[in-house]
Amino acid sequence: MIISQLSISGCSTNISQVYIPENEIYFDLKGKKRFFKIADNGTMNFYTYEDNVSNCEICGRLLDKMGIICNECGTISHNKKVFFSHGFYCKNCGKSLCRLCTSYYTKFLFFKMPLCKDCAKISMKDGKVVKKFKPIRK
Ligand SMILES: [Zn+2]
Ligand SMILES: [Zn+2]
Ligand SMILES: [Zn+2]
Repeated sequence: MIISQLSISGCSTNISQVYIPENEIYFDLKGKKRFFKIADNGTMNFYTYEDNVSNCEICGRLLDKMGIICNECGTISHNKKVFFSHGFYCKNCGKSLCRLCTSYYTKFLFFKMPLCKDCAKISMKDGKVVKKFKPIRK
């Protein structure tokens, strides 16, 4: 890969081209193919120019803080939020989940208790009304 570097010093502008070796790293994360494409300049600093791990796959936006990985389907999503969360933690077993894999039951009228697939089954047997979250509009 050739990167054009633009340096501005004083009044003169200087564009120089540097050759930087590319590295592609592929790995499997909970059944999903993930990759990083990095430009490596031989030091500890490298530049990621393409990957599929830094965006939330529920809303498509960049992860602001640490994202979470769904234990059911491997989707990467934003962490838990108070409203319209994209990621959840199962109330019973603590598994991290994406919005699409989360079921919930309602406690005290409006508290939504997130559940993973297995815990949802158990809760349904216990007579709880278990629902699914609606997908978020992108
Ligand atoms: Zn999101
Ligand atoms: Zn999921
Ligand atoms: Zn669970």
